Amino acid sequence: MIIVLKPHAPENKLKEIVEITIKLGYEPKIIKGVEHTVIAAVGDERKNQSLESLKNHPYVQNVLPIQKPYKLASREYHPKCTKVKIGNYFIGAGHFQVIAGPCAVESYEQMRQATSDVFKTGVRIIRGGAYKPRSSPYAFQGLGEEGLNILQAMKDEFKVAVVTEVVGVTHIDKIAEVADCIQIGARNCQNYHLLEMVAKSDKPVLLKRGMSTTINEWLSAAEYLLVNGCPSVILCERGIRTFETATRNTMDVGAIAVAKQESHFPVIADPSHAAGRVNLVLPLAKAAIAAGADGLIVEAHPDPVNACSDAAQQIKSDEFHKFMESIEPLIKICCSK
Ligand code: PEP
Ligand code: MN
Repeated sequence: MIIVLKPHAPENKLKEIVEITIKLGYEPKIIKGVEHTVIAAVGDERKNQSLESLKNHPYVQNVLPIQKPYKLASREYHPKCTKVKIGNYFIGAGHFQVIAGPCAVESYEQMRQATSDVFKTGVRIIRGGAYKPRSSPYAFQGLGEEGLNILQAMKDEFKVAVVTEVVGVTHIDKIAEVADCIQIGARNCQNYHLLEMVAKSDKPVLLKRGMSTTINEWLSAAEYLLVNGCPSVILCERGIRTFETATRNTMDVGAIAVAKQESHFPVIADPSHAAGRVNLVLPLAKAAIAAGADGLIVEAHPDPVNACSDAAQQIKSDEFHKFMESIEPLIKICCSK
């Protein structure tokens, strides 16, 4: 941390601030300028108490962090791209994956049809929520354990890998029995207790960016998963809340590029939740691939009009091949091993 004192701060105040930094576990190095004195407080900001509180000191002008709040997730720490294994399939480091399936598991027939349709197009990792976080508490919240059993049946029949969301700590063990990768949804990106408990399940985690989290906060959440024992993280940009209403969320294409530069983990995009409307899913998917995404997670449903959740944005699963054919040339250009 760098502590910048106000111009002409008296010696006794400098001494006072130096003592506080020592008390908080840092080694202070004083640099005296013509007007400003600066203290470089040496120490690990993740292990020691933050010096941010010094911003409230009458003789401190500013406190600036030097370290990023994420280390294990950073490219500085691990320059090469990391590939993550979901079931038998790799994602990242040149391995592009399209994860597809309905928003929610609604029935065996619905899930089987969706899986069969997307499987035919080459998809090997399916999605489907057994537990659904919803904007309204009165909306469909998923089939729960019955949904997990249906996902298991898909694995048994199609040998696909499964990504499914966790919304509460009490479901983690059951979900981990079926899921090859556990999804933390946008609404839970900063639910640190949930992150901590999911990290202990030893499964890779697909971490959606919260609708109002900064990239820094999102990567810090990834770091928290790693620190708590999670083997690997897949970062997912799914659109953020802005003033714009033409799309459900604003897909932050820039965030894909930033996350790829800042972190060694795979970064994927969810054009479905960003778009909110089926006819915008393809262009947003293309934008994400062009920005460097390592994969996509896309909603597909056999009968979107009658879907229990997110009806407007789901691609009809028997038309999913058109989506796959449209993105294929771009994947070849943008994603190389
Ligand atoms: C989902 O993937 O179905 C979902 C609820 O996504 P998000 O958390 O991005 O809203
Ligand atoms: Mn959805």
